[in-house]
Amino acid sequence: MSVYKIVEIGAEILREKAREVKEVNPTIIKLLDNMIDTLHAADGVGLAAPQIGVSKRVIIVKVGEVLVELINPVILEKEGENSAEEGCLSIPKISGDVVRATKIRVQGLNRQGKLVEIQAEHLLARALQHEIDHLEGILFIDVAKKTYRS
Ligand code: ZN
Repeated sequence: MSVYKIVEIGAEILREKAREVKEVNPTIIKLLDNMIDTLHAADGVGLAAPQIGVSKRVIIVKVGEVLVELINPVILEKEGENSAEEGCLSIPKISGDVVRATKIRVQGLNRQGKLVEIQAEHLLARALQHEIDHLEGILFIDVAKKTYRS
């Protein structure tokens, strides 16, 4: 088990476009496992690889018992809109209201290197959109209508 230090706002890597994963190899599997350990330790909902200092297009989201792991994720379709409060492990003590699509369809590779498609709504959809934004160097405070100190 490896828990990584979460990179916080101000770090350059959070503002970079993360690199595409060329091959799902043991290094990527290990990265996923370490991200899961780190997410659990931080008691978070989602994590993108740049948040542990790795510029790769890898995200994980855990909502309840559902764990989604995606490599090179792409949003294929968005539907509806709703606003809710969000936070981010890389931006301590700040929350904000963000409008996101209510339902999305996302495609990406799983840890077997197989192309999968996921339909998500509500919190799962929101968390996936938040994590995919991280891969573009976008933070929730960039898209929030309003932010708060918490
Ligand atoms: Zn975040």
